Amino acid sequence: MKNIPAVMIIFGGSGDLAHRKLYPALFNLYEQGIIHDHFAVIGTARRPWSHEYLQSQVREAVHETHDEVNEADLEEFSHHFYYQSHDVTNVEHYFTLKELAADLDQKYGAKGNRLFYMAMAPRFFGTIATHINDQHLTGDGFNRIVVEKPFGRSLATATELNQQITASFSEDQIFRIDHYLGKEMVQNIMPLRFTNPLLAAVWNKAHIQNIQVTLAERLGVEARGGYYETSGALRDMVQNHIFQIVTLLAMPTPSDITAKAIHQAKQELLDSLHIPTAEDVAKHFVRGQYAASDDTFAYKEEPNVDPNSTTETYAAGEMKFGAGPLQGVPIYFRTGKQFKEKMSRIDVVFKHEPNPYGQTHANKLTIEIDPESQIRLLLNGKTIEGDAIRQEKFCFGLTEAEAAVVPDGYERLLRDVFLNNSINFTHWGELKRYWEFIDAVEEAWQAENETGHPVIEQYAPYRMGAKSADKIFESPAGHWIYG
Ligand code: NAD
Repeated sequence: MKNIPAVMIIFGGSGDLAHRKLYPALFNLYEQGIIHDHFAVIGTARRPWSHEYLQSQVREAVHETHDEVNEADLEEFSHHFYYQSHDVTNVEHYFTLKELAADLDQKYGAKGNRLFYMAMAPRFFGTIATHINDQHLTGDGFNRIVVEKPFGRSLATATELNQQITASFSEDQIFRIDHYLGKEMVQNIMPLRFTNPLLAAVWNKAHIQNIQVTLAERLGVEARGGYYETSGALRDMVQNHIFQIVTLLAMPTPSDITAKAIHQAKQELLDSLHIPTAEDVAKHFVRGQYAASDDTFAYKEEPNVDPNSTTETYAAGEMKFGAGPLQGVPIYFRTGKQFKEKMSRIDVVFKHEPNPYGQTHANKLTIEIDPESQIRLLLNGKTIEGDAIRQEKFCFGLTEAEAAVVPDGYERLLRDVFLNNSINFTHWGELKRYWEFIDAVEEAWQAENETGHPVIEQYAPYRMGAKSADKIFESPAGHWIYG
């Protein structure tokens, strides 16, 4: 479908996300003709910008992300942008916004279609949703809302936010965005699993020993210490990105590649998610905080961080499901700040089968998401000199030319929103299960904090995070593949 009519309202139009991701992505969709003549974008934020200033910001944002730009197209594109100075807590401003949207609808022939994008601090999401409802901002065509992360900070707060949003939008109009689901290799998990009989045949508890998901960041909290204190690694990375990846790895085969079938398969899996007990958390979960180095601060010394903070900058743990092909197979995860390098990867460790050669290596499949997009399969073969066994890598990667044209996750996901394809968005039933799991771990950690002796490893920065995570494996031979 092309030239989709819509008035899009971005709450947070002067923010970092809008500038770095949304404006460049919208320009690419414009160049592809997904949106073209019948769209208008209203950027709203508190600053007193003019339409012209926003338009110049949009052009700047596109220049910053594109090596080559068709200037005439960019100029034309930017004239579809309008700015509305707006305080999200001021009810009257919603009325002005509604009128501007109606005028632009007329001007561009947007057919009453509205697309709302919450690109602001999450504490405002509920207020915006409430005012969209009480000021009747929705149009008489299609209405869709994109909600950024984090969606709540517990099951209770997520439920409250969901209720505020569902006052105006039905589940199929809500697009809870997680940009990891727009990444090339995350989008490759389903094709890899379901189109290769070779892999599909062994993708089960009989053949897989464990799976390991690592999302490592090189940076510390930078200037975001205040926000991070309210979040921590578990809420910031596990509740969304890691769970989404694990769900794709462990879900049963969907009946077809439609949003309905895929969400059904995901839900079937998540209904069987094991919610960890305090005992499980003590045995198979680890939290840590980065310590100081000669020239960097410890987490507890960062600006706006409580010197007695128990907020984790590193979390590792185990997930298990009672249904799906990986029933009972441990899926380990770890994520944290100030690792030795930025790295997002999945390691699938296959069981070691007896063979006439005796002690050989287990097969391993690695899906590297970032910084490279690559799949590597480790197979055994003989050494040249003799009949000893060595491991060799088979690689499935992108050429340099291919890597250069991989769309950014936001472009893919925004295009899906315009095309009304919710395959790569989180449904409420899934999110609810993620929060039940996170709440259980947080609760166990909170109880430990209250003893006055919480076990929070202070880990050396720019290495591999907390060392105690080496002991979370169920099998004594278990170890992290990446390290
Ligand atoms: P930001 O602080 O850069 O921008 C916030 C925007 O909200 C600004 O436009 C600001 O003017 C506006 N704003 C703040 N208070 C307001 C008020 N009372 N009334 C009206 N407008 C107000 O934040 P960001 O980095 O763009 O993040 C926005 C959302 O996107 C967050 O939920 C974040 O978690 C999510 N996100 C951001 C990124 C990123 O790369 N920046 C990546 C993933 C997710």
